[in-house]
Formats: sequence, structure tokens, C-alpha cells
Amino acid sequence: MRITAAVLHEPGRPLTIEEVELAAPREDEVLVRVAAAGVCHSDIRLADGELGDGRWPMVMGHEGAGVVEEVGAAATHVAPGDRVGFCIVPACRECAACRAGRVHLCVPAGENSLRGVLMDGTSRLSLPDGAPLQHALMTACFAERAVVSAASAVPLPQELPLWQAALLGCGVVTAFGAVRNAAGVAPGESAAVIGCGGVGLQVVAALRLEGASPIVALDLDARKLELATERGATHTVEAGSATTAARVARLTDGGADHAFEVVGRPETMRLAWNCVRPGGTAIVVGLAPRGVDVSLPAIDFLSDRGIRGSYYGSGDAAADLPHLAELVLSGELDLAGVVTSIEPLEAVNDALDRLRRGEGARTVLVVDPELAGAAGSTAPAGAA
Ligand SMILES: [Zn+2]
Ligand SMILES: [Zn+2]
Repeated sequence: MRITAAVLHEPGRPLTIEEVELAAPREDEVLVRVAAAGVCHSDIRLADGELGDGRWPMVMGHEGAGVVEEVGAAATHVAPGDRVGFCIVPACRECAACRAGRVHLCVPAGENSLRGVLMDGTSRLSLPDGAPLQHALMTACFAERAVVSAASAVPLPQELPLWQAALLGCGVVTAFGAVRNAAGVAPGESAAVIGCGGVGLQVVAALRLEGASPIVALDLDARKLELATERGATHTVEAGSATTAARVARLTDGGADHAFEVVGRPETMRLAWNCVRPGGTAIVVGLAPRGVDVSLPAIDFLSDRGIRGSYYGSGDAAADLPHLAELVLSGELDLAGVVTSIEPLEAVNDALDRLRRGEGARTVLVVDPELAGAAGSTAPAGAA
């Protein structure tokens, strides 16, 4: 079928909104009518070619939600009409990583994701002339419809508006998993969060729900620090000066138990390291361009400090998504408040440019206003 989609033809160039071909779902796949999609910082890394060569042409978009339209014969966990959020790691449940419980590191999912294909190693997307198109992170949801591996379509409660559900599958699961699975934050432990964009704000929210205290939020942008305070940050620090880490140390009685880097730059990774107390751990959530190194003063290892990465929540995202949706429905987790812009798919390049400039938290692209829910009538947080 013909669908409208946002296509990356060449890194560093604007995406083009154009008609592409989408083939029917195969046996273990589903066709989803996309309601809404979030614009994530990783989209910039991909669009600017910073994650390596060979990732284009590609239909972009990896954080989204929609309604199932058609299922392959082996896709029995969802039916047409079900509301689903996308999970970017459709774990095979059979490889060494999956068997060890690290399904976010599923080996075939990682390899296929890098090649821009689905789990059977092929693409359902092509240009009108037949040239193959890649699926961004096995999702490709900056489009009217998406064919995804069955395990990428996670059923969500009907009551959750899809413009909010769209955020769960990347930003929210990444943030909550970093706090719960990677860091294992315990009640009363202190934390610093460096970078308060779409994911950083959810890290703050997760820390509040886990009972962390104090929670120190750092950013260059005062408006994002306000949003962090609304999500549960007990203190805020305008970052960017030579005394930033010392201010965090004062607020956390000598350094934070956990410091989360949610930017993806070597300077902020080093800042996270500098913000943790002896024995504490820095957790790098931010995605850095390929080829970038980070250096640490080696003498600091004497202080028993640790640093680790966290990818996609370091857990089982497909299992976590319904629980995160319940947190939203129960009022414990506010998603609407981190959405600073709601725009049509055609505005995708403006949204990417705002992220490049560090403006705003999350943009939601509404692909189908009727399916997406009340987005059009809800004032985004940045509009006041
Ligand atoms: Zn993302
Ligand atoms: Zn696997």
C-alpha cells in the first residue's frame, strides 16, 4: 500500500514527507495505523549521520503508538483494533542475551536494527521506484502506517490517549529502566540528573516514585529546570560553570549516590562522574555520536566509584510498558506535562531543529488526530 512517511535520504539534510510503499505484514508481524509519534534525541543522531554510515534511505521514527489493523498468522497476542505502543527491541527470547535475561541486548534484534530491517532480515518499505527503504530502529513510525515485528507491538490499556502512549516505548521505558534496573535506586538515596529533556524529566519522575532524595536536576535551560521541579526534583542547578559539581556535592552531602547523564556528550558524562560520591555510580543514558571518546581521571577509581551505560531501560521493555501505562492512568506519572509541542507529521524538521538547539522537552507528532485523542485540545506545557 501507499503511505505518507518522513524519509531520511541523506544525513544532515531535512527529512522529506513523501509517499512510499509498505508491504503487507508477514507471518510474525503486524500492521499498525500510527496515531502519534514522539521525536527523540536519537532521531537527531540518526538524521545527522552520527550513528554511522549506511543508515539511509530510511523511514524515521521509533517512539510511537497506534491501532493494529492486520496481523500475520503467527502474531496471536494482538488483534485488529488493539491499541499498541512500539517496543524497539522485539526480543527473540532465544539468543544468549535473551536466555540470560538481558532481552534489551537481544543479539538478532540489535543486528537487524542496525541494518534497518525487521526480524526476518528484510524490509517492508520501499520507494515508489522499488528501491529498498530502511525501518528506523525496527519501527519507522513517522508514517501513516508501520509494519513491525509482532514483539514490537505491545498492547496498552484502551483508556490511555495514544498521543501520550506514544512516549512510553522509548523515552519513558529508557528513563524508568535506568533508575530501576540499571541503577537500582533505593528509597532515601540521592541522585543527580544531568539533562532535563524528554528522557531526563522521566528520570526525575522515576526517581521520585522510587523515593530517592534529594533529587538534583541540572540543565542549562531554566524552563526545563522548572519542569524538573514539577516532576519531583528537590533542587535544581543551572549547569555550565566550573562549580557545578561542587554545588551538587553540597546539596547531596558529598556527592550523589547515583548521577544520570541524559545528554550524550563527553563533558556531561565527565560531569556525572564528578557528581557522584565515593562508592557511587554514574549511569550514562545519553546517546553519543559514534567515534566520541570520554576520559576520566584514573586516580578516581581509588574512590570506588563506578560508571555504566544503560540501553533501553536495561530490562524487558515489552513487559514494562503496560505497567508504565498503568502509572499514567493512576495519575502517578504525568506524561502530558513533558510534551512541549504537539504538531502534525509535516512539522518533523522543525521539531528536530528545536531538539538540535536544546529547546523544549518532547514534541509529539500527531499522525492521525482522531486516533491520537485529545492532543489538539490540550495546551502543551510550553504554550503557557
Ligand atoms: Zn528514542
Ligand atoms: Zn534474543
